[in-house]
Amino acid sequence: MQQKWLFFDIGETLISEHKRVRIRNDQTFALLKERRPGLTAAEFNVAYRSVLKDLRYGDRAKITQIAQKILGKGAGGIWEEYVSRFLEDTEMDESRNPNRYFELFPETHRVLEHLQSRYQLGVIANQKIWARERVVKHFGLDRYFRVMALSDEIGLSKPDLGIFHYALDAAKAQPSDAWMVGDRIDNDILPANALGMGTVRISHAITEDAVIKPKAPAEVAKMEITDLSEMLKAF
Ligand SMILES: [Mg+2]
Repeated sequence: MQQKWLFFDIGETLISEHKRVRIRNDQTFALLKERRPGLTAAEFNVAYRSVLKDLRYGDRAKITQIAQKILGKGAGGIWEEYVSRFLEDTEMDESRNPNRYFELFPETHRVLEHLQSRYQLGVIANQKIWARERVVKHFGLDRYFRVMALSDEIGLSKPDLGIFHYALDAAKAQPSDAWMVGDRIDNDILPANALGMGTVRISHAITEDAVIKPKAPAEVAKMEITDLSEMLKAF
């Protein structure tokens, strides 16, 4: 019998990035407060909440939009300043102190443990070059995966279909025998749907970022879940 494969994204799928989001929000607040000294945390939160509903993915969009809400024309160059003042150091620190930025979702090990008895498991993820050691192995996830397609190791990143083909080739699997499980429409669901893979979209109920809604049929996952353990019923 042909083995079925389940491929997982990492960030916000197996590993929570909420701590990282909080750190970046605190940094953004500090930066905006320099430009508008009277800014309060409450005002910042109002602006943050109001941009969430139209948010596109990524820190650049988020930080720029929050700054525009709060500073108006005074928001010019905010992203560039954020990168030079905070982002470069923060990214370095992430590789050294992963626990400060990342944590497992409570159900991750239990779900993978269960699924690995019935499926072949793999990873298709956009991750920094240090992620295999400092994220995947650090959190004890490496033992589950027979195939790991990590963007910075192979020089291909989602949504490029090449990284999906790389993983499917390594697995010797047809798209129709494989599922992609991930949180992002643009990087996970849309390309996997295009290839004819099954798709599971996870939107964590506790997520701080807005849950971006699909805008076209090609963006709709076959299965929508808010907790990884919901997969146990279906798979
Ligand atoms: Mg993700």
